Amino acid sequence: MIATRIDGKLLAAKLREEVKVDAEKFEREYGRKIGLAVILAGENPASKIYVRNKIAACEETGVKSMEYYLPDSVTTEELVELVETLNADENVDGLLVQLPLPAGVNEKAVLGAVAPGKDVDGFHAVNAGNLMLGNPCLAACTPSGVMELIKSTGIAIAGKHAVVVGRSNIVGKPVALMLLSENATVTVCHSRTQNLADYTRSADILVVAVGKKEFITGDMIKPGAVVIDVGMNREDKKLYGDVEYASAAEKAAFITPVPGGVGPMTITMLLKNTVKAAYFGKKQ
Ligand code: NDP
Repeated sequence: MIATRIDGKLLAAKLREEVKVDAEKFEREYGRKIGLAVILAGENPASKIYVRNKIAACEETGVKSMEYYLPDSVTTEELVELVETLNADENVDGLLVQLPLPAGVNEKAVLGAVAPGKDVDGFHAVNAGNLMLGNPCLAACTPSGVMELIKSTGIAIAGKHAVVVGRSNIVGKPVALMLLSENATVTVCHSRTQNLADYTRSADILVVAVGKKEFITGDMIKPGAVVIDVGMNREDKKLYGDVEYASAAEKAAFITPVPGGVGPMTITMLLKNTVKAAYFGKKQ
């Protein structure tokens, strides 16, 4: 079997068109643009690239981007104060604090200060808790993008065995909860899992978020599976996934490439969350 490549760029472009339409509608209804504020503290080069991409995506979709650049020396108190100011700003619908924060800053305190209704990254304990309870919430962006990619294949999720490799709070755990809420039977694997391949080989849907270059190989994949590769591993200026694409594509029915799979979906789901937060704010 040679897998169909799931095109994240194409799906992201389609969803960004929806954001554009929603953003225009909001502006017509409320006389201002939807606003997304981003706080970037410190000089992390990867964060700078990511923030630049967010700004470009906002421009493309008609969402107003507001950036707040702070030095490495910023304190927890200063960051919390800025977050509280933006929480109270009616022109700010979505607010995100770019991670990682400079050493010495209390990340938990800063993220915890973001108003849950503006927490478009979906990292706040209130949103994470509501996701767990199955309540409406702003859900984490990369996991939401993973779900859109799986759904784009047209396969039924209910009743399937979904295996998630990785259990981080930002990817593995929320993806597992989302799959569960779609009635998959979910197994979560991690660094202490024994005989990992026994689990991956029984996965109808396999989501890999480990952070190790080409960690999952074709022999670990069930024929006909849907494989979603979240990994982003840079080596010699090249980007590699957590799945060895060539051998995996010989087994799977559908597979995401890296780059061009999950990556383009993350910022797109951030924009979707920002639209959701804007309308939610108006209902309150
Ligand atoms: P973390 O480092 O937070 O988590 C990695 C997970 O992998 C942990 O749960 C860890 O287990 C598990 N793991 C490590 N080694 C093994 C192993 N040998 N066998 C099984 N499981 C193992 O990473 P993230 O979740 O933040 O990110 C994962 C990958 O996804 C990275 O490459 C990251 O760059 C990428 N990513 C991509 C995004 C995108 O937009 N495309 C967004 C976010 C992340 P344990 O808990 O036991 O330590």
